[in-house]
Amino acid sequence: MLNYVSTTGGGEAVDFETAILNGYASDGGLYVPEQLPKIDSAQLASWKGLSYKELAFEILSLFIPRTAVPAEDLKGLLAQAYADFYVEEIIPITKLASRKDTYIMELFHGPTISFKDIGMAFLVNLVDYFLAKRNEHLSLVVATTGDTGPAAAFYTAGKKHLDVWVLYPEGKITPEQERQITTLVASNVYPVSVANCTQGGDDLDAIIAKMYADPAFKAKLNISSVNSINWGRVMMQTVHYFYGYLQLVEEIGTPINIATPSGGFGNLGAGSLAREMGLPIQTFVAANNQNACLHRIFEEGIFSLEPIVSTPASAIDILIPMNFWRYLYFKLKGDTNAIKEYKQVFDTVGSVRFKREHHRILREGFSSYSVSDSETLAEMKQVFENEAYLLDPHAAVALQAAKNADRVDASLTTLCLATAHPAKFPEIVKEALTTEVLPEGATHFSIEKAAEACEKKLHCDLAYAQKALMAFMEENYTQKQS
Ligand SMILES: *Cc1c(COP(=O)(O)O)cnc(C)c1O
Repeated sequence: MLNYVSTTGGGEAVDFETAILNGYASDGGLYVPEQLPKIDSAQLASWKGLSYKELAFEILSLFIPRTAVPAEDLKGLLAQAYADFYVEEIIPITKLASRKDTYIMELFHGPTISFKDIGMAFLVNLVDYFLAKRNEHLSLVVATTGDTGPAAAFYTAGKKHLDVWVLYPEGKITPEQERQITTLVASNVYPVSVANCTQGGDDLDAIIAKMYADPAFKAKLNISSVNSINWGRVMMQTVHYFYGYLQLVEEIGTPINIATPSGGFGNLGAGSLAREMGLPIQTFVAANNQNACLHRIFEEGIFSLEPIVSTPASAIDILIPMNFWRYLYFKLKGDTNAIKEYKQVFDTVGSVRFKREHHRILREGFSSYSVSDSETLAEMKQVFENEAYLLDPHAAVALQAAKNADRVDASLTTLCLATAHPAKFPEIVKEALTTEVLPEGATHFSIEKAAEACEKKLHCDLAYAQKALMAFMEENYTQKQS
């Protein structure tokens, strides 16, 4: 049976269910499967023509033992997870007419119109499924840069075995994203607006880390996480890379390039796992905005904390690509000592330089680019003017990076991941297109509906948020028990 171990080598190997429910490994590392399943070209070829859900069933079956989730239940969970998507194909792919061999994979047709729905849809249903079997209850605590929060709230709403506390940095997510979190009626969703987060979502991750570090609190409230470090999200996000590849190529084995707008490296990290498993991707382009942490890692071999800046692609205003450690684990063939050392240095001084040999290995098959704000806006405008296709700012970052990154074979087909619907960013769309009137395609009925609903939220200041929130959560828990 496939067991899960920590990227930093501590603690016991655990089974799939435990890895999903725990979120973090007991030594603070991230769970990884002991071995990655390998997929050969015959198997890949046999998957051609499968729907997204059918393909997901095949790939997840490589990671999830039938003893944990029987085949019929897995099919049921997948059907339930994607029932709320707005389009039948789940993930449509369109060709950009004005750019050579360039395709857009639209990952934003879920209920909260960002790619976070893809992983969250399955993970939250899976967690609830395990909890129902055990007759247990979990409180999820998540931080968000704008899109994880709405997805976690939507999928948790009304679940019998789950609550969710959604922490978001006041003023750093769009009003549209905020209302996706605050307008749900469900009594098991607790939106928390936190003022004065100068480091954005990273400030909130720090609060959550402190909650985890308090064993009595963690045990009493039974808290866990469905942020992008959860193996369930990463595993699910490998599927759309396989799906996109199988949709695009005629002949299995043909290499393509893929560009992904990246912050926490959960999505792109999953892509690189798909490649480790056997998917023929030539180059992955890590598309950063001005917050260029990944670009510095790939180009200079330095992982360093720099001050955060606000950009039009705000969901990737992220300083710490937490999933990078997971990527490194596979690239360094499970050298947990090296990872532990790098992580310790980074956690202590806020910066670490990778050994020359490790830098060489980790940039194999990768390129990167840091896109400026004006490039992002110009790309949105150009594609809209050329072919009346409206990109959201994150997809624009991916397209720009694919065009400008070094060491990319431009003769290959390029797949760019569009991770959010532009309706989440109406002010950016207006600025990019230099118009006061939103064009068709820049709105979405779910956003319009939320604009006219009551909001509920807790509010506190970062200075006292951790203490206040822990006290509130505990009191709330005690009241619910009695
Ligand atoms: C979260 C998010 C990303 C980045 O995904 P990571 O897995 O954190 O790298 C990109 N685009 C959008 C719109 C997002 O919400």
